[in-house]
Order: sequence, then C-alpha cells, then structure tokens
Amino acid sequence: MKVIRTANELTKVLSIHNNIGFVPTMGCLHEGHLCLVKKSKLTNEITVCSIFVNPAQFNDPKDYKLYPVTIDEDITKLESLHCDILFLPGVEEVYPANYQNKYYQIGEIENLWEGFYRPGHFQGVCKVMDRLLDIVPATDLWMGQKDFQQCMVIEKLLVLTNRKNITLHRIETIRSNSGLALSSRNQRLSDDGIIKAATLYESLQLVQKLYQKEDFTKLEQYAKEDLLQNGFEEIEYISVIQKEPSVVIAAAAWIEGVRLIDNIILN
Ligand code: AMP
Repeated sequence: MKVIRTANELTKVLSIHNNIGFVPTMGCLHEGHLCLVKKSKLTNEITVCSIFVNPAQFNDPKDYKLYPVTIDEDITKLESLHCDILFLPGVEEVYPANYQNKYYQIGEIENLWEGFYRPGHFQGVCKVMDRLLDIVPATDLWMGQKDFQQCMVIEKLLVLTNRKNITLHRIETIRSNSGLALSSRNQRLSDDGIIKAATLYESLQLVQKLYQKEDFTKLEQYAKEDLLQNGFEEIEYISVIQKEPSVVIAAAAWIEGVRLIDNIILN
C-alpha cells in the first residue's frame, strides 16, 4: 500500500486510472470502515482510503480534540486488505491558506436531526468532501448507512457540484454481537458503557416493531425513558426520517459524555 500525504502526488498517481473507488474516513478504523474498503476492492480497479480528521465538521471543539487517532494500527489493517493507497494529508494540505470557503445549498436537511444538534456540521462535511473529490477523481464512493443523513447530504453535494458520474454506494451498518453500531467514538466508552450503549439499538428495534401500531410520539417517549434508565444521559432525538425510497428510524444520544448515533431502515 502506498501512503501519500500530498494532494499533488495523489492526483498524479491516480491520473492513469479511470475506475477509482474512494473510502473517506476519519481513521481509528474498525470493521465498518474495513467493510467499505473490501467492497471497493471487489468492484474497483484501484481503492483509495483517506484518513483525515476534518476540523470543519466538528461543531464541538472538545469532540475534535478527543477524536481517537490510531494511525499505525489503521495502516496495518488497510495493508492486510491490500488497500492500494492511503491518503493521509495534514490540515494545511486539505485546506491551504488560500482555500476559498463556499456555502453549499443543501436545503432543509442542513438543519434537521443531526444538523439541528450539530450546527455547521453538514457544511463542514460538504467542504471536506468537495475538496477530497477534487483531489481524488473517484468513480465510486463508498459510505456507511450508519451516517444515513450524511449519505443524503453527499448525494445532494454530488448533484450541486456536477459530479453526477460518481456512484454513491451506501453500505449497511456493521455492528458488534450486542447490536452496538461500530464507531470510532466507542473507544471512549468504559466496558460498562459499551454494554449499556447497546440498548440504543434495542430501543430502535422496539420502535421499529411498534411504530405502525402505536402513536409514534408515545413510542418515542417510551424509548427515551428506557434509554435514560439504561444509563444514557441525554437523548437528542429519536425520529422517523422519510427519504424516498427509504423510511428510517434514527437516534442520537449521549452516554459517558460520548455522542452516539444509530438508525434502522424500515423498508
Ligand atoms: P468516519 O470515520 O466516522 O467518518 O466514517 C467513515 C465512513 O465509514 C463513513 O462513510 C461512515 O458512514 C462509515 N462507517 C462508520 N461506522 C460504520 C459502521 N458501523 N458500519 C458501516 N459503515 C460505517
């Protein structure tokens, strides 16, 4: 695997390829990320994974500071999958001093659910993806359903920036045996927190089972109370998101000072 740190070198290396799979990540890789790399390896002529903890998408500076970094382990994992290229840029490489910020017209989704609780987050996601896709001429983009709303935003970004030739693949959420969605942020939980955090998925499953039979507001209330009893400190939202052709139940909640998100696709 080639580890490339500059945009110029990466663009040069990729210029001879015309079927490029791209897996953008913030590192601290787990089986969820690796699954995206495996899919790209099966489909694309060349696979590029990027690791860049994007300051622009963190509305909470503490969350950015505490974001886990495990580069050596990440490299070993990517090498074991024969990932072709790891792009590992610094902040000044992604956003040079003369970088012009833009406002992305992504519509109401910017301020709903994740957007409501993380102001500016999706503008930051668009900023980094717009830049990374300028550097990586991807034909296929591999992303996780776990960040369902992020997938919606990227779909919109591809249209807004006239990149209709890129295929966005959404890959199902990879979970531990307990049902807990794998996330780099799980590293910040204690052993007890990891066990308790799995109840987030259980609550979503309960809402999924009953949501057409019972009043949704009541269900949401039950689920929230349940999670609070199970050790969650705060539940930001449990909501049904309708996005043709999908209906999704999504949630965000805090446990041991860590913000976790999860969702289940209903159809
Ligand atoms: P992140 O490093 O959190 O920015 O995630 C990089 C990519 O991996 C995104 O497309 C995420 O949706 C995806 N991802 C993160 N966790 C999972 C998971 N548990 N299952 C599948 N994909 C995931």
